[in-house]
Amino acid sequence: MPELPEVEAVRCALDEPVRAFPIERAGPAHVATLKTIDPPLRALEGRRLAGAARRGKRLLFETEDGELILMVHLMSAGRLRYLRAGEKGPKQPAFRLRFQGGGELVLTEAGSKKRAGVWLLTPEQADEELAHLGPEALGIGAGRLAEILAADSRRLHPLLRDQRALAGIGRAWSNEILHTARLSPFALTTQLSAEEIERLAAAVNEELARGIDLRVRGAGDARTYRIHNRLAQPCPSCGTPIARVDYEEHTIYYCPDCQTGGRVLKDRRLSRLLR
Ligand SMILES: [Zn+2]
Repeated sequence: MPELPEVEAVRCALDEPVRAFPIERAGPAHVATLKTIDPPLRALEGRRLAGAARRGKRLLFETEDGELILMVHLMSAGRLRYLRAGEKGPKQPAFRLRFQGGGELVLTEAGSKKRAGVWLLTPEQADEELAHLGPEALGIGAGRLAEILAADSRRLHPLLRDQRALAGIGRAWSNEILHTARLSPFALTTQLSAEEIERLAAAVNEELARGIDLRVRGAGDARTYRIHNRLAQPCPSCGTPIARVDYEEHTIYYCPDCQTGGRVLKDRRLSRLLR
């Protein structure tokens, strides 16, 4: 489940190699993966990429001439990597860019569902595609975060995951951030004190920075997550077993001692069915 730290690590790994040579061949792309037809993929051929950038969970590869932007969203199971000349790659990647010199940028996706996407956009089209995104989560200040929270009265965990409110955080890092902030995933956004908002902003930045640092060094989930997917394991702060609650279509992990004053949260999905 790549979120901001994971996508940032991919960006770091690709930034140098993708600009080493001009593109020789763009495609093929799986019909479900390529989301745009105009400009055509072939318009990339002969051009050089300026490097790799990121906006929220999306990767952006702008051409050196500034005329085109290749956007990639990995969704839940996509993997984007650079293969050096001669390095063995997948037989049928979801998308491929071949560079002069023989290197390749390949997108693969585990499982049969093709959900990852590739878009080839003009700068104007890219602005439109990205316009709905909230500010970058990394670097958010308490003042701006307070405005975002005040604008939308809802539970904290879903708000943090909402890309329109704040870009880059998904369910795993919401769990990590809320634990560090010592806030309940069900706390209402409009009922936080100024001090709690300060703590939340600090936790967003601290946790995403920790995630980037680990992911850039190749750390797997077990070394990266302290709360997410850690049901019944001791909380790293207090030793209380980590608990889990289902909310909407998501499973939330939290420490009942650090985050909810000892209260065990009720499963909202189940209680809705019983109502
Ligand atoms: Zn705890």
